[in-house]
Amino acid sequence: SYVVTEACIRCKYMDCVEVCPVDCFYEGENMLVINPNECIDCGVCEPECPAEAILPDTESGLEQWLELNAKYSAEW
Ligand code: SF4
Repeated sequence: SYVVTEACIRCKYMDCVEVCPVDCFYEGENMLVINPNECIDCGVCEPECPAEAILPDTESGLEQWLELNAKYSAEW
């Protein structure tokens, strides 16, 4: 799945939410998160993010963001 990272914090853009075909973005404490169980890996949101905060979970060093995306998207 794709994962939202640090650059999203206090971001005011919601472009990603509008393009996601499965509506798997959720509100975290101060950023958006992606539900890893709902994301279908389409990649449509990645280029839409002006802050370049969305990355594929295959990138290295994303452990804390993976955890945070899973945690906050599970609360809904
Ligand atoms: Fe939604 Fe596709 Fe982005 Fe996953 S990769 S969050 S399904 S737009």
